[in-house]
Amino acid sequence: VHQSQNQLIDRLSVRLFVVSRPVFDMEAFLRFLESEQQSWERMGSAKDSESIVEAAGRICYMSFGQRQYRRPNAEYVANLIKQGHESVLEHVSWSFVLTGVSRAFSHQFVRHRVGFAFSQLSQQYHEERDARFVEPAIIRSHPHLSTLWRSAVEGSRQAYASLLESLEELEQTSLSLPNKREMQRAVRTAARSVLPNATETKIFFTANARALRHFLELRGNIAGDEEMRVVSCLLLESLKKEAPSLFDDFMTQELPDGLPRVVKGAPQAG
Ligand SMILES: Cc1cc2nc3c(=O)[nH]c(=O)nc-3n(C[C@H](O)[C@H](O)[C@H](O)COP(=O)(O)OP(=O)(O)OC[C@H]3O[C@@H](n4cnc5c(N)ncnc54)[C@H](O)[C@@H]3O)c2cc1C
Repeated sequence: VHQSQNQLIDRLSVRLFVVSRPVFDMEAFLRFLESEQQSWERMGSAKDSESIVEAAGRICYMSFGQRQYRRPNAEYVANLIKQGHESVLEHVSWSFVLTGVSRAFSHQFVRHRVGFAFSQLSQQYHEERDARFVEPAIIRSHPHLSTLWRSAVEGSRQAYASLLESLEELEQTSLSLPNKREMQRAVRTAARSVLPNATETKIFFTANARALRHFLELRGNIAGDEEMRVVSCLLLESLKKEAPSLFDDFMTQELPDGLPRVVKGAPQAG
């Protein structure tokens, strides 16, 4: 990621934190190999996640000891991916906390069903009176449009607060719901209907390497979808640190709008 891209991403509200990562019990795996009178000669260093994928791949052919074709982990993994043997990538998962993205983004994000798990901030249990909003960069770069946008989302926030207050009063007097919890749910559900797509959300998600690669390929290079591009770029940045050999064939490039995209394979012209 170039410096200018970093600066632009910093001005956006999106933040991604890696909060869990794979741990390989190498000792246990070596005990297994010993029980099979096998050995594994590892070449160069590899992160736990990379070793897990290699170990899983080698199990398929029991390519240990005499049967081991000696190559560094990065080369081994690249070959698995080249052969389309990507199910072995499902053995490693990471968990992330993603904040500063809009509910419009998250609606698209949670469509990824396979190899992903999501836990998202609820607008039924969490009151959104102080909600923040994610301003698209394309709007922010034009002051008069930014003013228009800010007044629209502020209006929504005020309408939300007024509805919340009025509905709470109404419901307390009419007592049409079984308990306070359901009353609160009904009130927040009704009031949130005026909140815009831009409302900020937070998502805790877990995904395996295969699913992450699918996501990056499908979503990272859609020029008109800046949030997808930025999230894809932050994801790739983290994943290249976590497990370089599993994501080596992806890279970021800057588009003329100054934001990055993620591409697979050789770099292409802007
Ligand atoms: C450019 C673009 C435009 C889009 N436009 C729209 C739109 O207008 N409306 C809309 O509703 N969605 C739209 N989507 C969302 C899209 O249809 C997918 O729901 C979303 O991208 C998740 O992708 P996926 O199904 O590949 O991922 P996952 O759900 O994670 O699935 C991963 C892969 O597993 C396989 N798979 C999963 N489930 C099944 C299944 N039931 N049967 C067979 N194979 C399966 C497929 O190979 C799939 O690619 C759009 C996506 C993109 C990228």
